[in-house]
Amino acid sequence: MKKLITTPIYYVNDIAHLGHAYTTLAADVLTRFFREQGEQVFFLTGTDEHGAKIAESAKKEGKDPKEFCDEKSELFKKTWENLNIKYDHFVRTTDEKHEKAVKKFLENLKDSIYEKEYEGLYCTGCEKFLTEKELVDGLCPDHKKEPEKIKEKNYFFKLKDYLNKVEKLIESGKLKIEPDFARKETLALLKQDLDDFSISRQKVKWGIEFPFDKNQTIYVWFEALLNYVSSIGYGTDEFNEWWDDAEIVHLLAKDILKFHTIYWPAILLAAKQKTPDKEFIHGFFTVDGQKMSKTIGNVIDPNDIVNEFGVDGARYLLLSQFPFGQDGDFKKEKFIEKYNSDLANGLGNLVARVLKLATDKKLEPEKNILDRTKQTRDNYLEYFKDFKLFEVLNEIWKLIAFCNEYIDKNKPWESENREQIISNLLYAISEIAFLIEPFLPETSEKIKKQLENNKSIILFKRMLSIT
Ligand SMILES: [Zn+2]
Repeated sequence: MKKLITTPIYYVNDIAHLGHAYTTLAADVLTRFFREQGEQVFFLTGTDEHGAKIAESAKKEGKDPKEFCDEKSELFKKTWENLNIKYDHFVRTTDEKHEKAVKKFLENLKDSIYEKEYEGLYCTGCEKFLTEKELVDGLCPDHKKEPEKIKEKNYFFKLKDYLNKVEKLIESGKLKIEPDFARKETLALLKQDLDDFSISRQKVKWGIEFPFDKNQTIYVWFEALLNYVSSIGYGTDEFNEWWDDAEIVHLLAKDILKFHTIYWPAILLAAKQKTPDKEFIHGFFTVDGQKMSKTIGNVIDPNDIVNEFGVDGARYLLLSQFPFGQDGDFKKEKFIEKYNSDLANGLGNLVARVLKLATDKKLEPEKNILDRTKQTRDNYLEYFKDFKLFEVLNEIWKLIAFCNEYIDKNKPWESENREQIISNLLYAISEIAFLIEPFLPETSEKIKKQLENNKSIILFKRMLSIT
């Protein structure tokens, strides 16, 4: 099996925050898991770099837009490197390869494009037109700014022609939208009167030139979606190798659901391309019960978590907070406590205790241990295939707790059955080392080495809690 796993591309106007890190880390964990299962996986992420907002921000910093984008996209790459996230391709929408593919794609979309005079309320913060209904007291609810009234000639995509087909794709399960809330929300949106949408801008200069009209640029949202095909070589022979043969899986947060679950499949249908196989949507989160915001001062920089808890500590803390796919709360206040209890005491202590008592003599593990680890592995596979990363971690940590209790109960240090007990535990630890690999790749390696050398070195230093 082959899989193409993608994250959205992130707007370079922002720096990598917890939300970006969460989606990208999940994609990395899934990639590592499916590879371990013998699948060929292509993991794609990147940055979205066009639009009026970028040009404005660059100008504020006294830079030209490209220079600005070069710097900002580096910051994203650096953050992914710090989190040990290993993508196969990092697309930048200012890449020549992307630009060429986008133009080519538009030519194949020609029959579904028309010209129209358009007037609407545009928020540069969102880079999109807002409807009267979406405004709160006349302002964009996200940017607290009055949108500009813009009248211009635009090119439109005939979305309405494809809505029925998109609905059928979803209802037949050919396009899986998960979790269920996202599927329901998409189907509800399809029942509303969705209109054709514009895919070009007359006044935005920082963008890719519209192929049929040199006075226009391609709308940044539309162009960004095309990264999924440009990155794997749309317009060249290599393209089909991944787009047609692989299972296409998009991961995203629910704020961009409509673009991905409705617009994107419609665009692909119009261009006579395969539609995605699965879109997995995750929720919003709060930090210590509050919405993340600069004014409250609770914005979490993922790089800070790495500095404080190490790369595997950060990876664990990010994904062990609440089920993947739901809204949830990051309990930053409890990070130290969770790190100590699950990593330093739970996993780290288990490995240290067992290796201290281990000798070169190893016996076959007993049946009860084989059964117990097999149970974990079965559940692990089941949950992983459904992208239930939180549940997978719970399963592994239940096995770790089982092992720690097993030591306490059997007291190998004073037992005449010591060699058997320790052999059982060594077997369970080797299983755990294998199971944690997608989440904690460095720790997994360290444990495997320690098992080989029969020597324990501290995996996670206990931290002093301030409270
Ligand atoms: Zn806005």
